[in-house]
Amino acid sequence: MTDTTTTTRPAGGPVSLTLPDADHQRHRPRGSEPVIELAGVSVFYGDYEAVRGVSMDIGANEITALIGPSGCGKSTVLRSLNRMNDLIPGARVAGRVAYHSQDLYARDVNPIEVRRLIGMVFQKPNPFPKSIYDNVAYGPRVTGRKVSDMDGLVEDALRRAALWEEVKDKLKQSALALSGGQQQRLCIARTIAVRPEVILMDEPCSALDPIATGKIEDLMHELSKTYTIVIVTHNMQQAARVSQRTAFFTADVDTAGVRHGRLVEFDDTNRIFTNPAQKRTEDYITGRFG
Ligand code: ADP
Ligand code: MG
Repeated sequence: MTDTTTTTRPAGGPVSLTLPDADHQRHRPRGSEPVIELAGVSVFYGDYEAVRGVSMDIGANEITALIGPSGCGKSTVLRSLNRMNDLIPGARVAGRVAYHSQDLYARDVNPIEVRRLIGMVFQKPNPFPKSIYDNVAYGPRVTGRKVSDMDGLVEDALRRAALWEEVKDKLKQSALALSGGQQQRLCIARTIAVRPEVILMDEPCSALDPIATGKIEDLMHELSKTYTIVIVTHNMQQAARVSQRTAFFTADVDTAGVRHGRLVEFDDTNRIFTNPAQKRTEDYITGRFG
């Protein structure tokens, strides 16, 4: 990897991660080296091991879906990919999560920079109570990046999120007046505006109607040409429609009666839904369990 940017070190703060600039990552062929690698990842909430021993690779410019029954640790694993679990008191990640081969949890890594490069979109659209414009401009403003053309940046992010045509004449209006589906696309635009490489989405359509869901799915497909996407979904049809790779998780009960999430099978989406290797996967996708 030759293209890297080094962000400056805040006085007295931790050394920032030296990471590839997202803009230089965009033309790598599918199936090349993984963007994120998990090796033996376990996540604890206090003493409770919610997820145990997950190993998987996230490929560049692919959509990877995480599926499985409620409580099996999908959101927990997703949050471990950009250090969102750091924000939960008592949460701890063991094992290795590497981003372009660098340990995301190393002491000198700046979690704020991690979350810029690996953005997150949540289940319930959560625009700020600000104008549409200010929602998109928020990230670039707080990260302190010098932006010579903020209007252009806002327009570009809204176009990439397939929202521009619907909002271009009302950029100063409150984001809260938008429909749920528009709000979710605005949240995607807000994420894109800080130039991430990876976008994590935790059940991004579960609060949306089928038409708005279809728009987000089309958008995901379009975005995957530029970004790497990991989506948690409880909707198996959605996983089958949008993703190239699918990870099936479940929760096993140990001898003490405690449930621990684990990765059962990770493969091409087509394979998972037509000819899975594990009976647990087959039982789940055929609706016999979960
Ligand atoms: P999923 O997204 O697959 O429904 P989660 O990752 O939300 O599953 O949860 C996995 C397990 O971790 C569950 O047993 C859940 O109760 C527990 N858990 C999730 N978040 C927390 C938290 N903040 N504190 C304590 N336990 C949690
Ligand atoms: Mg969840």
